[in-house]
Amino acid sequence: MNVVNPATEEIITLLIENDRPSLDKKYNLLKAAQKHWAQQSLKERIAVIQRFYDLLDLEKEKLASILTSEVGKPLQQSRNELNGARTRIQWMINNAEKYLSDELVTDSEELQEKISYDPLGVICNISAWNYPYLVGVNVFVPALLAGNTVMYKPSEYASLTGLEIEGLLKKAGIPENVFQIAIGGKETGMDLLDMDFDGYFFTGSYKTGKYIYEKVAKKMVPCQLELGGKDPLYVTDDVKDIASVAAGTADGAFYNNGQSCCAVERIYVHENVYDDYVDAFVKEVKSWKSGLPTEEGVYIGALTRKEQISVLKQQVEDALEKGATLLHGGKRKGHVGHYFEPTVLTDVTNDMKVMQEESFGPIIGIMKVRDDDEALEMMKDTAYGLTASVYSDNRDRAEHILEQIDSGTGYWNCCDRVSAGVPWSGRKHSGIGATLSHQGLRAFTKPKAWHLRS
Ligand code: NAD
Repeated sequence: MNVVNPATEEIITLLIENDRPSLDKKYNLLKAAQKHWAQQSLKERIAVIQRFYDLLDLEKEKLASILTSEVGKPLQQSRNELNGARTRIQWMINNAEKYLSDELVTDSEELQEKISYDPLGVICNISAWNYPYLVGVNVFVPALLAGNTVMYKPSEYASLTGLEIEGLLKKAGIPENVFQIAIGGKETGMDLLDMDFDGYFFTGSYKTGKYIYEKVAKKMVPCQLELGGKDPLYVTDDVKDIASVAAGTADGAFYNNGQSCCAVERIYVHENVYDDYVDAFVKEVKSWKSGLPTEEGVYIGALTRKEQISVLKQQVEDALEKGATLLHGGKRKGHVGHYFEPTVLTDVTNDMKVMQEESFGPIIGIMKVRDDDEALEMMKDTAYGLTASVYSDNRDRAEHILEQIDSGTGYWNCCDRVSAGVPWSGRKHSGIGATLSHQGLRAFTKPKAWHLRS
């Protein structure tokens, strides 16, 4: 398997994909090691993860550079991702004992009732490339803390990072055979679906997620999905500082080249502030430096996958055919490397691809709305349900709109953010189940009820 640098299209290295016999061997090792890992004390498991946390910082520059070389994100954004992953791990370490230890719920002289949180066993994590540290950490860290062994399949676009993660966990002292990595793409993922894991945890597209859910259903084991989104954002007419709202929301749409599951993908703006907002938004977009992700100050790097360029082109063409106005960008940049100009479309309608299909790239549609009711109607018009955001100086106004939207996350005066203390979950086509928070720690366990009568 070739590992290609998306910024230069040069081959970085060649990797050997795991075939089925090698995956079976890894699975058997994980199975054999699981009981012993679960029998270690939670403190011992936490100590391993703590060392992994320290190593992520110690080796940050090297890891950031590898990540940038294979996914094309600006070096500073790679460093930010590593810092963000550490913040999440720290929360998990701080809260593992609280949420994974036995819970005594009744304690009388004649009866004790308690809940124990047993590990699922050997779990399979099929992961995505856009934030390999963040989405990986969401799964394999709590899974390991809870006493599971883990088969981790990084995306084929983030395999080098996957290998680094494996190396760091080993350096951190994880016992042999507790964490294994499966190198490869779709075929490798399909092989894993044919095997007998005790739980499947997937991060990726709706299309693949649906396929995996259907395949795993027959096994009667937990299957959790973190999928895509078409996240809406609404700017009301009572915001005071329209320039800073425009700059903040532009970042929410274009950070990581728009390749974030919770990127802002549709913007609705109240007609009273629309013109000022659009002017400030375009000014912000024009101020960004695009280019080689290793260059200082670059904000828009290369797209990870070449195929996405044609998806974005089609969205622009479809929007223009249906009457949209192109205010900035709109086409591929250069001939070498996967670059696409940051693109702003206005006069869009909700029947355009750019307002319905996940773009996963540097493109945004901005629509003018009459009032909150129209904004709400537009925001709700989607098959996805990951996040939704409202900018307003009135919290009640924002919360009233957000509570009517079927999404896993609601943002008031912020967007495109994830925090370890609250659940990360999608609804409808955006997923099933939650990571992060106490729910995310317990997602890798099965509860056992104990009725103890003396
Ligand atoms: P993808 O679905 O193409 O691939 C994800 C993983 O599944 C990869 O490891 C891939 O090799 C594997 N895979 C592909 N086909 C498979 C099959 N038939 N059987 C088993 N495994 C298979 O997604 P991607 O391009 O890696 O990621 C982008 C998508 O992920 C976007 O839709 C994005 O919104 C979503 N995402 C969601 C979250 C979230 O937290 N909700 C986070 C990051 C990314």
